[in-house]
Amino acid sequence: MKKNDFKMTEQNIYSYMSPDNIKVEVFLSPLLFEYLEESSLKQLLDASELPGVIPPVIGMPDIHEGFGLPIGGVLATDGNDGIISAGAVGMDINCGVRLINTDIDYGDIKDELPKLLEKITSSVSPGVGGKTKYLKAKSLDIQNVLEQGVPYLIRQGFGNMEDLDHIEDGGVISEGDSSVLSHEAVKRAKEQLATLGSGNHFIEICLLETDFNQKEANDLGINYGKVCFLIHTGSRGIGHQVCTEYMDRMKKALKKDRQPLPTKGLAYAEIKSPLGREYFSAMAAASNFAFANRQLLTTAIEEAIGCKTNLIYDVPHNIAKFETIDNQKLLVHRKGATRAFPAGHSALAKKFKNTGQPVIIPGTMGTGSYIMLGTENLRRTFYSVNHGAGRQLSRKQAKKSITKKQFKQMMNGIEMSIPGVKNVIDEAPQAYKDVDEVVNTLCDIGLTKKIARLRPIGVIKG
Ligand code: 5GP
Ligand code: MN
Ligand code: MN
Repeated sequence: MKKNDFKMTEQNIYSYMSPDNIKVEVFLSPLLFEYLEESSLKQLLDASELPGVIPPVIGMPDIHEGFGLPIGGVLATDGNDGIISAGAVGMDINCGVRLINTDIDYGDIKDELPKLLEKITSSVSPGVGGKTKYLKAKSLDIQNVLEQGVPYLIRQGFGNMEDLDHIEDGGVISEGDSSVLSHEAVKRAKEQLATLGSGNHFIEICLLETDFNQKEANDLGINYGKVCFLIHTGSRGIGHQVCTEYMDRMKKALKKDRQPLPTKGLAYAEIKSPLGREYFSAMAAASNFAFANRQLLTTAIEEAIGCKTNLIYDVPHNIAKFETIDNQKLLVHRKGATRAFPAGHSALAKKFKNTGQPVIIPGTMGTGSYIMLGTENLRRTFYSVNHGAGRQLSRKQAKKSITKKQFKQMMNGIEMSIPGVKNVIDEAPQAYKDVDEVVNTLCDIGLTKKIARLRPIGVIKG
């Protein structure tokens, strides 16, 4: 397969029929397609060879090379007789984004921004292997966190019952089972609750500014001109541990059964096999940790700013979930992709039945991010959209080609709490694709619509 074998068959959709007759589709504007590396397409094609795949295998506009499945990849399999792949979920299980709103006017905190960032930073322990500093989280029972997710936290006083309607799956996946986890996985969970993580993870203070659709924005609880926060983090060490352990076990089991495997990153088990079911329980436990982590960062922020916030929505973007489309039970792997159920979808909380779920698309720390809604046309992507702008430069390339001066120019006027420019240059806005181009790719073909744009005013990076 060569990149040119993918042909534009509809506006912004490039398709290829695999030798096994599985359709692979990538959603890209001609400009994004031009810059895409062939290796990501090859990874989609490898995934299409797995047993029980329900086509199409999909690449979103933020697609870039990952481990096994590309980031921005959607892989659906038969929910009864198909497979589950730990690598197709990704290392950071239930990495996701949460948007919270406040009643604060920018003018009221403008001068205090550096102090505010410092205060939040000191309670969320940014950095690799950061350990819990938010003291209240230390009293939580880790088994309950892993098995009961956000509802447990709410019972302990972290948030309100109403929050559950604003979190995908109500903030808990019931299959989460801590008894299948290794000692190391539980240990890491215990040490790292309420921590931000490093690199790409962030807490961003932003302003909801552009009004694309006032009525629907109001329905989603969006407050124009007010300060809000984006939180991007996941399951920290436990997700990494679970992915590594099960990928290894899946690979070994396949080898033992003499089953072919395109790449280690796509190692899989049958969903109904003991290993497949066990991975799902472990993945669900790590997901519950991640939901809980974002809930705790929210209360830590509330304490730092001295007032309550409103949760708009919380979306995972590295996860596999059972979903039913046209009476067919599927297991949808979304790796660097986000669920986007449109208005009327039966799985939505009542609150979002008429609008659809809010879809949060972070862009970069220097440009902007989007809130969108999906349309019924998303049925063709298993109701999935891109999860961000996506990298256009690898970390290595970014470090080599972006200068400190160029980085500072892009960040002009935005307050930062970072571990030094040198350490975050691979997170520079220039390292990512143009978020407007990425977002317009789906909007232009009627899959999504824009509700608001967020402008960053302060950012905490790990
Ligand atoms: P990932 O989870 O794949 O690392 O990142 C998700 C997306 O977040 C990226 O594709 C990128 O577009 C976006 N992103 C990365 N860093 C930042 C940041 O500091 N602020 C905002 N708003 N978006 C970011
Ligand atoms: Mn992550
Ligand atoms: Mn992420």
